[in-house]
Amino acid sequence: MLTDQQTAQDQINRVLMATFCRTLNNTRLPPVVVMRMIASALGKAYAGVAATHQAGRCSCGWQPSPVTDVELMRSALACAVVNQEDLWAMAPVGRA
Ligand SMILES: [Zn+2]
Repeated sequence: MLTDQQTAQDQINRVLMATFCRTLNNTRLPPVVVMRMIASALGKAYAGVAATHQAGRCSCGWQPSPVTDVELMRSALACAVVNQEDLWAMAPVGRA
């Protein structure tokens, strides 16, 4: 059975948050340093997957475009942060 996109996103969110928290607890590094490490890992994952596709070792048809793909990832990151800021702005209303 195929997993739908939202379920996949939820699973990635859970795994990433668990990794983030575990790394914070195990290292005592500042959160932003751990976030940079996660961003670096995402970049390395992208580079590896893109290289596999550029070498023709996958038949799914995806053609990596590093400039466009990085811009899409940057937009997704910015969008997620902005959406979270909206939630922070709303939080006091719900506390009363
Ligand atoms: Zn592929």
